[in-house]
Amino acid sequence: MESVTLDTINHYINGQKVKGKSDQVGYVYSPSTGKKIAEVPYATKEEVNEAIHFAKQAAKKWGNTSIGKRVEVLHRFRHLIVEHTEELARLIGLENGKTISDAKGEIGRGIESVDLAIGAPHILKGEHSANVGGEINAYSIKQPLGVVTCISPFNFPVMVPLAMSTMAVAVGNAMILKPSEKVPYSALFLSELWEQAGLPKGVWNVINGDKDTVQEIITHQDIEAISFVGSSKVAEIIYETGTKHHKRVNAFGGGKNHMVVMPDANLDKAVDSFIGAAYGSASQRCMAISTVMPVGEQTAETFKEKLKVKVEKLQAGSFDDEHADFGAVISQEAKQSILRDIEMALKEGANMLVDGRNPDVENKEGFYLGATLLDQVKPDMKVYIEEVFGPARIVVNVETLEEAIGLINDHQYGNGVTIFTNSGRDARKFTQEIEVGMVGVNVPIPIPVGYYNFGGWKSSRYGEGQMFGPDTARFFTKTKTISERWFDQKESDELTFDFPGT
Ligand code: NAD
Repeated sequence: MESVTLDTINHYINGQKVKGKSDQVGYVYSPSTGKKIAEVPYATKEEVNEAIHFAKQAAKKWGNTSIGKRVEVLHRFRHLIVEHTEELARLIGLENGKTISDAKGEIGRGIESVDLAIGAPHILKGEHSANVGGEINAYSIKQPLGVVTCISPFNFPVMVPLAMSTMAVAVGNAMILKPSEKVPYSALFLSELWEQAGLPKGVWNVINGDKDTVQEIITHQDIEAISFVGSSKVAEIIYETGTKHHKRVNAFGGGKNHMVVMPDANLDKAVDSFIGAAYGSASQRCMAISTVMPVGEQTAETFKEKLKVKVEKLQAGSFDDEHADFGAVISQEAKQSILRDIEMALKEGANMLVDGRNPDVENKEGFYLGATLLDQVKPDMKVYIEEVFGPARIVVNVETLEEAIGLINDHQYGNGVTIFTNSGRDARKFTQEIEVGMVGVNVPIPIPVGYYNFGGWKSSRYGEGQMFGPDTARFFTKTKTISERWFDQKESDELTFDFPGT
């Protein structure tokens, strides 16, 4: 049997790569080949404690470093990400399976969050009111929290950690990042870039591990805030555990994102938008469109006819195959689970329009699934109720805009939604009445640009406040309000016991 030496993934603690001591390990696979490429020792309680100890020391100094100096580091960090984009994109492709061009897109969106964090001096400006009462001025300042943690998912190994953590660092906190154990390489690469950018030791730490490691981190007494991105099931656990331990928690979960197509829509544009938004990244995006709702029989027939022809041509392939439209899914388990979802849908009465279960791919060991399209899906079917994190997309036929809005509003998830129409009136009705956090009109995926806040509704988010945009700075700081007066040394006020008024 061929013996393969596996790479071992380190932690990054206090400015150094640290070999994990635990016997409990996970494995990293390259989805494109199905090969095991590394082992990841899961951090022990002692390793978590050590990282948080160093982070706490570093946070005190970093939080008191002038904002100008902190931003200088961020400028260099941004420059380094741009300089290393090729390398980083290959790494994302290797461990996640997405195509290099898609990985570059992800890096570009991640840079938007760095840009926003470079603007931290502006965002951190407080309020000031002169003479709110007898010569008293009032003002507010935003101070860092101390040591904070971000727990990230596998599907955006770079963009999500950047969006979650860069502002947290910029406003003066120290970070404990726990990346998905399935994609640890990219987070470690970011550590090297932070180091080269001159970030002081201990401000940025990466701890590898699974749910037990997360449990140690989020219950640690010195962790002040938890930012989580992942599935809704885990988001709920993180929210409940974190708040029980008196932490500030923001937990972003999964989605079931609909595209409503009105009879007056530009159908060609709607079809093309659906293809990219639904199947890009092998549909492993929290904002991927999973469900198309054509309104009316005629719209449905024409839309499906045009869509089917294009979906049939989509090609799954290796991350470095320039002709591939999308890559493999993250794991063998994920592939099996998606196949089970398709089987169940068929059993429940869905109609197969395009069958991608046995894609024609070069590497049979890779975790590939082709583009699948199921029609005649009803709202009580499992495939409609639950998030399917892979390239099996569905058509739910409706008669009216009101019916579409009703179904979407009743759905457990509320991450993203989009409508294709040429009617301003219908678009306005939709944007006003829909109960979803991020809404598009004639755009494929309504992910806000980095300087807007991001966040779903309902089970797509636990906790208050949005993230990724300016709200990230609010989440990672605490506000202090100061009322201040300076006496004229020559005069003295009369003593009073009344409650002070204005
Ligand atoms: P996941 O929930 O399985 O894992 C996310 C993180 O949580 C990982 O770091 C993992 O190690 C950790 N984790 C897993 N189980 C845990 C447990 N029981 N207790 C504590 N920690 C645990 O998610 P995933 O499969 O890596 O990512 C895909 C999911 O993330 C999808 O549902 C997708 O929609 C969602 N997602 C949401 C957003 C968003 O912004 N709303 C963005 C990206 C991905």
